[in-house]
Amino acid sequence: MRLERFSVRRRAELQLRLGSGSKEPPYATQSKSALALSLAIATLIWAGHPQARASAEGPWFGLVLPGGTAPAVQVGPRPPRPVVLPDGEQAAAEFDGSAIKRDVATLVQFAKDSRDRREVGSGQMWGRIAGFPSSDRAVAWAADQFRQAGIKDVRVQPIAQEARASLWLPLNWKVTLLADPAFGAGTTDLVLSSALPVGPSQIAGGTLTAPLVYVGAASPAVLNHIDVKGKIAVQLVVPQGHMLFERGSVDARSEELVKRGAVGVFNLIRLPGNELSRDFTDCGNPCFNIGGRDGWFLEALLDRAAAAGVQDKVRVRIDLATETFRGLKATNAVAVIPGRSPETLVLNAHADGWFEGAGDNADGLAVLVALARHFGKAGAPPERTLVFVASAGHHTPGINGPRSFVAANTDLARQAVMLVNIEHVAQRNFSPARTTSKDGYREAVADSGEAPIAVGVTNNSRFLQALIDRGPATHGVNFISAPSTFQSGETGGWAELKVAKVSVMQAPPLYHTTGEVLDVISAPGLERIARFLSGFVTAAGRAAGADLNP
Ligand SMILES: [Zn+2]
Repeated sequence: MRLERFSVRRRAELQLRLGSGSKEPPYATQSKSALALSLAIATLIWAGHPQARASAEGPWFGLVLPGGTAPAVQVGPRPPRPVVLPDGEQAAAEFDGSAIKRDVATLVQFAKDSRDRREVGSGQMWGRIAGFPSSDRAVAWAADQFRQAGIKDVRVQPIAQEARASLWLPLNWKVTLLADPAFGAGTTDLVLSSALPVGPSQIAGGTLTAPLVYVGAASPAVLNHIDVKGKIAVQLVVPQGHMLFERGSVDARSEELVKRGAVGVFNLIRLPGNELSRDFTDCGNPCFNIGGRDGWFLEALLDRAAAAGVQDKVRVRIDLATETFRGLKATNAVAVIPGRSPETLVLNAHADGWFEGAGDNADGLAVLVALARHFGKAGAPPERTLVFVASAGHHTPGINGPRSFVAANTDLARQAVMLVNIEHVAQRNFSPARTTSKDGYREAVADSGEAPIAVGVTNNSRFLQALIDRGPATHGVNFISAPSTFQSGETGGWAELKVAKVSVMQAPPLYHTTGEVLDVISAPGLERIARFLSGFVTAAGRAAGADLNP
C-alpha cells in the first residue's frame, strides 16, 4: 500500500515537472506558493486513479462530479494533412475544402436553430429532423445551391409520411440522482446531463423513482446473481468501434433486464466525452443512454455505495415527456444535368441528422453540392445524365428520401445505371489521449487524418472496385483496405434500382451523438473526397454499361 502510494506520488510529481498536457493550465503555474504546490500534488495524487481514491469527506463520497462542457474530442493546433493535387488536376474553387466546410457550417446552423427555436419540446432533442422545418431548410438550401450552380432542372418534391408510420421523440426530460445523507455531508440532488431516452420510452404520469442496480455487461452469467426487480438496471456498454455494432446485444440485454423485472435500464456508453447518444431501441420500459463521464461517475458512485453498504439508497428520479408524431411532411431536392445519354448516374446525400450532424450528414451533403457546382459549370454536357438528390433521409420512420425519389421520378430512376450515396465522409480521426479529465476519464484527441471510410459496391463491379482501389494513392482518401459490398441504411432506400450502388461512408465512434460537431470536420478531407468522387463519377460516366453492371 505504501509503495503504491509512493509511486502515485512520484508520478504526480513527474507530471508536474513535465506538464500534464491537458487543456487545464498546469497546476504548477497556478501559484508559486509552496502551499498551493502541495495542494496541487495532493490533487494529482488523488487523481491518479481518481474516482476509486475519492475522499470519504464531502458530497457524493467526495467523488469528482460529472458535467462540464468540454468537447468530446480535443482538436489541437495541428491541422489535417493538406491536399496534394494529383498530376493534371487543377485547383478549383468549388473543391476548396475551407469553402465546403463553410457549407457544412451552414447546415450545422440549421440544426442549432432547431434547438434554439425549440422545434421539438423544450429543445433538448434537436437536429435536422425530417418532418420538421430544420430538415426542410437544409433541403431548400441544397435546391438553392443547385440553382446557383447554373442547373436549370431543379425540383423540390414533397414527401408525406406513410400512414401507419410514426416518429417518437422525447419533448423534455431529466434524470436526477437523489441525494441521501449516507453519501456524505452536503450531498444534493444531481442531474445527469448526458442522459437521453431511448425510443420509444414512456412513463405513465411522467415520473418514475427507483433504486439503481449495477449489472455490468448484463450477460446471463451475471444476471443469475443479481435481482433487478423493481430497480433500474445499469449496464455498461463498451463499444469496440461505435454503437452501431452494439445494437443487437444492447437491445437484447435491455429487453432481458425488463423481462427479469427491471423498471428501467441505463446504458452507460463508454465513449469519449459526455455526449448524448441517439441510438439503440426500446427495452419495454424507460431506457436511457448515459454519456461517458456521467457513466464513469455513476459506476464509481455505485462502487462507493456498495462498499459503504448503502447501495439501496442510490435512487434516481426520471421525468419524461414524449410525443409520437404522425402525418409529417418533408421534401427532397433533385437537380438534373442532362447528358449526351439519357442513362443516369444518381448521386445522393441525406439531409437529416441528429444534433449538429456535422458528420452525419452535413459533410456528405456539402460534398454533393460541391459536385453539382463542378458538373454544373458551363461546358460540354456529361456523357451520361447526372442526377443530384438532397434526400429527406431515413431517420424518420415513414419518410424515406430515396424511395420517394424513385416514386416521383420514374423516368430518371428507370434510366439509372449507378447510384452513389455520399454519407459521413470527412470527420477527423481521433485516438484516446494521454491525458484524462479531472475525474480520471480518458480524453480523446484528433490526429492529422480523417476517420476510415468504407466504400461498398453492391454488385462488386471490378471496374468500380479498381477505381476505388486507386483512391488512397491518387487523392489521399482514407479508404479501408478491404473491398466491400456493404450498403448503408440510406442506400437501402434505393432497393428498386437494380444497378451498382456505391456507399461512401465513415462510421466513427461518435456517430449519432452530440460529439459529431463542426470542429471535427476536416476541410482537406472534404476536398479529398469531393475530388475523388468527381473523378469517379467522370470515369463511371464514360464507362461501358457492362463495366458498371457486369
Ligand atoms: Zn447518415
